Amino acid sequence: MHIDVITLFPEMIEQALGHGIPRIARHSGALSLATRNPRDHADNAHRTVDDRPFGGGPGMVMQAPPVIAAVEAARAAQPDTLVVAMSPQGERLDQHWLQRLAERPALTLLCGRYEGLDERIVRAVDLELSLGDFVLSGGELAAMAVIDGVARLLPGVLGHQSSAREDSFVEDLLDCPHYTRPATWRGESVPEVLLSGDHARIARWRLQQALGATWLKRPDLLEGVELNAESRALLSEFIAQCQNKTVRNEEA
Ligand code: SAH
Repeated sequence: MHIDVITLFPEMIEQALGHGIPRIARHSGALSLATRNPRDHADNAHRTVDDRPFGGGPGMVMQAPPVIAAVEAARAAQPDTLVVAMSPQGERLDQHWLQRLAERPALTLLCGRYEGLDERIVRAVDLELSLGDFVLSGGELAAMAVIDGVARLLPGVLGHQSSAREDSFVEDLLDCPHYTRPATWRGESVPEVLLSGDHARIARWRLQQALGATWLKRPDLLEGVELNAESRALLSEFIAQCQNKTVRNEEA
């Protein structure tokens, strides 16, 4: 997959993606990354790419000509790229979006700054994506989130192929708890089942814990899921165990 990032701060993108999984993805060839600076397309000596808003008001607006020139250069280099503007007004980024994006051959991520983009730029992109209902000062952090989340889904990037499949949100469930050595620490032992070597039991326990964590922390996720009979039974058992614990705590 090829990703172009259109940004006034290319160093931010380079810096953040030179570590960990994105770095591995780039070194393995699964991901190639390039940045394009709208300033390189500015037609003035100062390389400015922003101007005051028509109609008045605070802040500056990113101008259409240099930004669209950068978008067109990205489209010319990768004709099948999907051009995505990072924006608080966009579709909310989630794991389903990352999975869809990871299947594309190429992405162009457009980062706004200042008060945002001239509306004529917004009309020229394929999609707007948001990190959530809050306002950042620029699109770079949002673009990095997309790149990081996509990089770990690209074939061959994660050492253990199944680890991405068991993560939170992949099956609309949160991930199960994880433990590593030491087996007992400050008086707390890891669940006995994880030391049993019984893989079927471990798999059942993990599924039950994932269902339980989702029920406790993000019940909204369960509303959209059709659970099969085994999952329903595991979740009922988890809920009963929680209720028993509450009763015991209240009696104590
Ligand atoms: N005035 C705009 C916000 C501009 S913030 C508005 O209220 O809609 C400047 C830039 O930061 C935006 O162009 C966008 O690229 C980025 N940005 C801010 N919040 C974001 C969010 N929640 N998700 C993705 N990008 C965001």
